[in-house]
Amino acid sequence: MRVVLLGPPGAGKGTQAQIIAGRLGVPAISTGDIFRANVSGQTELGKKAKAFMDAGELVPDEITVAMVKDRLAEPDAKAGFLLDGFPRTIAQAEQLRSSLAELGHGLDCVLELVVDEEELVRRLSGRRMLVDGEMVQRDDDKPETVRRRLQVYRQQTAPLSGFYETEGLLARIDAIGEIDEVTARAMEACGAGDAGRASGD
Ligand code: AMP
Repeated sequence: MRVVLLGPPGAGKGTQAQIIAGRLGVPAISTGDIFRANVSGQTELGKKAKAFMDAGELVPDEITVAMVKDRLAEPDAKAGFLLDGFPRTIAQAEQLRSSLAELGHGLDCVLELVVDEEELVRRLSGRRMLVDGEMVQRDDDKPETVRRRLQVYRQQTAPLSGFYETEGLLARIDAIGEIDEVTARAMEACGAGDAGRASGD
């Protein structure tokens, strides 16, 4: 299956991406994680992306699209994938559609995780991640950057919901609740309700 996971920062995309991709037996590809790995590895790509990320802005489409194209060309993504955090602009969505079409493929499902903004701010300000054995706040989870990221989401990413609705691919799900409840809603919404259950996770 080829799936896109849409939703604002703090909606739980990363967590759900891992679980859903595991159930579907496809790799979870997070553009945010790829960028963060490049920033810590101080690669050329990381150097280009860092200032945008720190400011809560999107990394320019040409950089992001080229990176995703390379990742999707890797063997593990041939039979399917779950994209987390891409596309984030209409231009990225159009590029994704044409690169997949060149290979004779299309997306099977676009899942939008819906969470109201008050809850997002609450979740993001309390969010910590484990780095070198310590729980730290992501630089871009600082309050002023969170505000900008939510604004960028509303302006540049939210229109994707209409784009994919027109394509007949959009499934919107309520992403408030226990993690496994949200996963079950997501699997059901993508018509994959039974996938992966036998594996016991
Ligand atoms: P995330 O972990 O998905 O919240 O992404 C963290 C940051 O990486 C974002 O705030 C952007 O600066 C950058 N980023 C991730 N995915 C994209 C994308 N598809 N397009 C542009 N920038 C992105």
